[in-house]
Amino acid sequence: MIGVAVLGSTGSVGESTLDVLARHPQRFRLVAIAANRNAAKLARQILTWRPAYAALADPAAAAQLRELLGTQAPGTRLLEGPGALEELAVLSDVHCVMAAIVGAAGLRSTLAAVRAGKKLLLANKESLVMAGPLLIAAVNDSGATLLPIDSEHNAIFQCLPAGTRTGVTPAGLTRVLLTASGGPFRDTPADELAAVTPEAACAHPNWVMGRKISVDSATLMNKGLELIEACLLFGLTPAQVQIIVHPQSIVHSLVEYVDGSVLAQLGAPDMRTPIAHALAWPERIDSGVDFLDLLKAGRLDFRAPDTEKFRCLALAQAAARAGGLYPVVLNAANEVAVEAFLERRLNFPGIAAVIEAVMERGTGGTVGGLDDIFAADAESRVRARERIVGLTKSASLRGAHA
Ligand code: NDP
Repeated sequence: MIGVAVLGSTGSVGESTLDVLARHPQRFRLVAIAANRNAAKLARQILTWRPAYAALADPAAAAQLRELLGTQAPGTRLLEGPGALEELAVLSDVHCVMAAIVGAAGLRSTLAAVRAGKKLLLANKESLVMAGPLLIAAVNDSGATLLPIDSEHNAIFQCLPAGTRTGVTPAGLTRVLLTASGGPFRDTPADELAAVTPEAACAHPNWVMGRKISVDSATLMNKGLELIEACLLFGLTPAQVQIIVHPQSIVHSLVEYVDGSVLAQLGAPDMRTPIAHALAWPERIDSGVDFLDLLKAGRLDFRAPDTEKFRCLALAQAAARAGGLYPVVLNAANEVAVEAFLERRLNFPGIAAVIEAVMERGTGGTVGGLDDIFAADAESRVRARERIVGLTKSASLRGAHA
C-alpha cells in the first residue's frame, strides 16, 4: 500500500486525484488531506475517506471543521495553520505527496516533501516558478522523485528516455513544443478584452480548473509559467521551448530530437491521465478517462500565439530569459492582479499592465535562498497592489464589468 497525502484536496486537481485513488483501493491509502478554508468540503472528504490526518491552513475554518465533524471522525487527527501542511508533507507513512495547492501558498509544503525524499507529484507550478533551482537541488540532494502533473510537462516527461534526471536535458533532445489551448479569448478581438468578465475568463473551452489557473489560461500567463517550469524541469533554455496554440488540447506537448524525430503524448483533456500516470509511475493504471477517438476528433490545428494581444505571455518569456528573481516578481504580481480581476477591481488587460509595471521596477537579483524569494514575493505584492490602485483611478483599467 502506497501512503498518499493530497495537499489541496478540495480543489480541481485534488478532487481528480481522489477520483483516481478511489479506483485503486488495493494500491493506495489516503493518509492525509489538506486545504485552506473550505471546511464543508473537507468534512465530506474526511467522512468518505477516513484519513489519519486532515488540515486546514486557515485557523477559523479549522474551528468550523471541528464543529461540523463533532465526534464523527475519531480516527482523523485535525491540524491547522500554514505549518500543518509541511507537517503532513513529511509524515513517515506518506510516500507520495500530491502538491495541488494553488499559488505561492504551496511552496513551503512542496519543498518540505522534496527535502524529506518523498515522491512528489507537482501540480503547484507556482512553487517551481518561484524556487525552481532550490527545489531541483533539493530533489538531487534528498533523492526525492519529482513527477510533473501539469498535462504538458507530464506529456514531455512521458516522451523522455527512461532514467532522465530532473533538471537535466537528455542527450539528443533539441527542443520541446509546449501546446496551449489559447484559452476562452483565443479568437476574441483585442479591443473587446477590456469588457470580458471573470465568469467568461473562467469558462475554459477544454478544461475544468480552479479560478486562478483558468484566468492564467485566458491571459496565456499559464503558458508563460509553464515555459519557466519546462526550463527548470528539463534543463532547457527559453529558446528551446516553442509555444504552439493547439485549440483541441489533444496533443499535450511534444519533444524534438536531433535526428528529426518528434515524440508527442496525446489524450483526452482530463487531468486524471497525468495524475494516474504519476501515481503509478513507472507502471500504468486505469484513470477513468475515456479513450481518445481520433476519428471523432477529426483534425488537429496548430498556430503561433499572439503575444501582442496576450502580453502576459511576452512578460513571462522576458522573465524566463532574465532569470534570477524575475520569475518570483512575475508570479507575485500575477497572483495579485488575477485576484483583483476576479474581484472585479481590475479589468482583463489590466492584469498584464500591473505585471509589466511591477517588473519594470522589480529587481532581478539572484536567488540565494528562500528568504530572498519570500522578500521579492512580498515586495512585488505590495507594488502590485499600489499599482492596481493607481491604474484603476483611470477608468480604462477599472473592472467595469460588474
Ligand atoms: P483550485 O483553486 O481548484 O484548488 C486550490 C486548492 O488549494 C484548494 O484545495 C484550496 O483550498 C487550496 N489552497 C488555496 N490556498 C491555500 C493555502 N493558503 N493553504 C492551503 N491550501 C490552499 O486549483 P486547481 O486544483 O485548479 O490548481 C491547483 C494547482 O494545480 C495550481 O497551482 C494550478 O496551476 C495547478 N494545475 C491545475 C490544473 C487543473 O486542471 N486544475 C492543471 C495543471 C496544473 P480551499 O478549497 O480550502 O480554498
